[in-house]
Amino acid sequence: MTRAHVIGAGLSGLSAAVALTKAGYQVKLSEAAAHAGGRCRSYHDPALEMTIDNGNHLVLSGNKAVADYLATIGASDRLIGPDEARFAFVDLDGDIRWHLRPNLSRTPWWIASRHRRVPGTRLWDYLKLARLLRPPPGARIGDIGDLEGPVWDRLMTPLLLSALNTDPAEASAALAAAVIQETLAQGGAACCPRVVAHNLAATFVEPALAWLAGRGGQIKLGRRLKEIKFSGGRLVALSFADGDTVVAGHEPVVLAVPAWVAADLVPELVVPDAHRAIVNAHFRFAPPPGAEPIMGVIGGTAEWIFAMHDRFSVTISAADRLWNEDRAALAARLWSDVARAYRLSDPLPAWQIVRERRATFAATPEQDARRPGPVTRWPNLMLAGDWTQTGLPATIEGAIRSGRTAAAHVQSPGETHAGR
Ligand SMILES: Cc1cc2nc3c(=O)[nH]c(=O)nc-3n(C[C@H](O)[C@H](O)[C@H](O)COP(=O)(O)OP(=O)(O)OC[C@H]3O[C@@H](n4cnc5c(N)ncnc54)[C@H](O)[C@@H]3O)c2cc1C
Repeated sequence: MTRAHVIGAGLSGLSAAVALTKAGYQVKLSEAAAHAGGRCRSYHDPALEMTIDNGNHLVLSGNKAVADYLATIGASDRLIGPDEARFAFVDLDGDIRWHLRPNLSRTPWWIASRHRRVPGTRLWDYLKLARLLRPPPGARIGDIGDLEGPVWDRLMTPLLLSALNTDPAEASAALAAAVIQETLAQGGAACCPRVVAHNLAATFVEPALAWLAGRGGQIKLGRRLKEIKFSGGRLVALSFADGDTVVAGHEPVVLAVPAWVAADLVPELVVPDAHRAIVNAHFRFAPPPGAEPIMGVIGGTAEWIFAMHDRFSVTISAADRLWNEDRAALAARLWSDVARAYRLSDPLPAWQIVRERRATFAATPEQDARRPGPVTRWPNLMLAGDWTQTGLPATIEGAIRSGRTAAAHVQSPGETHAGR
């Protein structure tokens, strides 16, 4: 059995490891941290005395790579959500509330229904969004004129800000188009919200590790790759803190580490080098019965609120502006948004703020142009990660796809290099 090496056990590395195992390789997966999952992880938080995720992760029913990955590792039931595309929103200025409810089929008749669309909008406001679907090359969303109005403020800005983790004005219109093509343009059946049943680790990580271990995969946590050695046009060795691993001529390596680590290990790589933060606030407070599981917030600091059985969690995208803000003041401000959104009068409960400075690459046209494909000039070195050229912004769907793509190139290297 041929050995394959995967470096990094985030979702792209786990996805590559799963795909390579399915293809008959014996996988050796090395991860620097003491836990797998990377930016999609769970941990016990002493301040809250509960297990929380580093950040809320929302995926959609149309995320096919996510669905395939979970089916393979036997974890499809660990992602939950309704069989309809239904999103609650509140505009805190004026306490206006509505549900966005795209119909399931691809013909978007919901935009003609006042009970399903954004309040205060007309059919034309939606039709003019079509110009977002075929943007000029290299354009920013902000370059595409005449998008303003309530649909923009109350639907497209929250949707694109969270999907791109970048201010829509500066974000890549091509990446926005890709998001819309794979979601709203496919109809409501592709837009049903999905969240984890318990936590990220129990859905995306632990079942994958168990699946790999059960099929002969070797998983080494706490094993940081320090150097890659090349010779004769091939990758020949991987240098870890505990010694070198010789890579025999036919053994493939999938490098599934963050962009900045990949660039350190392989200095000639061009990779995205600007990132955006995500801030999450977690509050130990059991939501009232019947509370909306997810609420989009307009006019507050909070952008999306997730009501889990034992806590509320708040997400703020492109949150670099909040980096130096006092944590206690931020928690109080965000709890005030939660209390207004869910009509609560309770004082600030136990809280935690989790800030991820380099949560995703900045989804600008310039950064998108720096994303490499899966192949390198060394035939046995492939790249994976949400920052590689997946055609999507940095998302779970993109990360899982990238791992699968890298594995597919491993299996057909002739095709790969002929195509470069
Ligand atoms: C707070 C937050 C919220 C998010 N919300 C969403 C969401 O709602 N929906 C969505 O789809 N996406 C979301 N994302 C994005 C999603 O989490 C990422 O796209 C995905 O997890 C990236 O996976 P990855 O494998 O590409 O990278 P990573 O998760 O960064 O994995 C890389 C791995 O490589 C390891 N590593 C680094 N250096 C070395 C080395 N030298 N040797 C060995 N291993 C190494 C790291 O420890 C890490 O485990 C969110 C991200 C964050 C941070």
